[in-house]
Amino acid sequence: MTSPTMRQMWCEQPGQLEVRRRPIFEPGDNEVLVKIAYTGICPWDVRAFSGKSSSVLFPRVLGHESSGYVAAVGSKVKHLSIGQPVVADFIVKCGSCLACRRGRPNLCRRPTYQQFSGGYGDYTVLPQQNIYPLRPETNMQAAAFMEPLACVVRGQELLRLQPGEIELVVGLGPIGLMHMQVARTHGARVIAADLIPARLEKATALGADWTINPQETDLGAFVKDVTDGWGVDAAVIAVGSARLVEQTLPMLAPGGRLNIFAGIYPRDELRIDPNLIHYGEYILTGSSDSAPVNMQRALDFIQNGQVDTASLVSHLLPLEELGRGLEMVKNAEGLKIMMQINVES
Ligand SMILES: [Zn+2]
Ligand SMILES: [Zn+2]
Repeated sequence: MTSPTMRQMWCEQPGQLEVRRRPIFEPGDNEVLVKIAYTGICPWDVRAFSGKSSSVLFPRVLGHESSGYVAAVGSKVKHLSIGQPVVADFIVKCGSCLACRRGRPNLCRRPTYQQFSGGYGDYTVLPQQNIYPLRPETNMQAAAFMEPLACVVRGQELLRLQPGEIELVVGLGPIGLMHMQVARTHGARVIAADLIPARLEKATALGADWTINPQETDLGAFVKDVTDGWGVDAAVIAVGSARLVEQTLPMLAPGGRLNIFAGIYPRDELRIDPNLIHYGEYILTGSSDSAPVNMQRALDFIQNGQVDTASLVSHLLPLEELGRGLEMVKNAEGLKIMMQINVES
């Protein structure tokens, strides 16, 4: 008797993709087998696939933004049932390093990545603490945004917004469009900036208070105008550009906070006047990945409708077209490109 098999988009080396079949995973005692419905493509996947990230080991199966259904559970998993909709967190934190113990599990020093059971396949298998149950009526495309939205939730919390403040979001890809929505849950108003008209329209539809194309209008002058010369209380740079950080810093209000949310590659340096930070009492922060508390908050936002992620999906592609999807993300085509893997119709 042959065991049932599953598809995976196998990546033997950077830049190489092939569909491979392998036996379906058997969950261990504490593990959950998930049949994947949707997996979003993240710019991180594009960078990993290019081979430019030295920490990413090959061969591997990429994909870390998945929703799906419980297909099997190990003997020690008591709270999940077969067929239950879930989302998966693909990074297993060690739980015992200083980062984990000091409340920053997102910066875990000994994380385990799902090298051979990534989200671009029919199934994945993960420890039960990495599986987040969903309400039955949850939109599964929307739910597949848990991981990127969790990073955004963390980034916004670090900006410590107060109701009535104004935040500037620079870059309106799927990440920027989530930042502006989360900023609004904190009671802030949002200026949304991007060079692509379709993205500005999307920002307006999702509740941006002001949108601006810095190629057409001077952003600094616009910020002054809108804030009566005060500046923005917070800013998030959702584009990997040191120049944008330098240009945005002087737009902050006294006490302003700025989050360098996107990694910047190739490596670059900042030239900023430290007196701006000193006299303005500015706080310059970064944020990286997310902790379980951010994941749950992201799911709450998705499930209660406070953040609309479903409408960020611009393309649904079959699993075998992953190569095309990665290319589209690289070229900033559309918004969220999502692989549609196993969908019950
Ligand atoms: Zn991601
Ligand atoms: Zn750890």
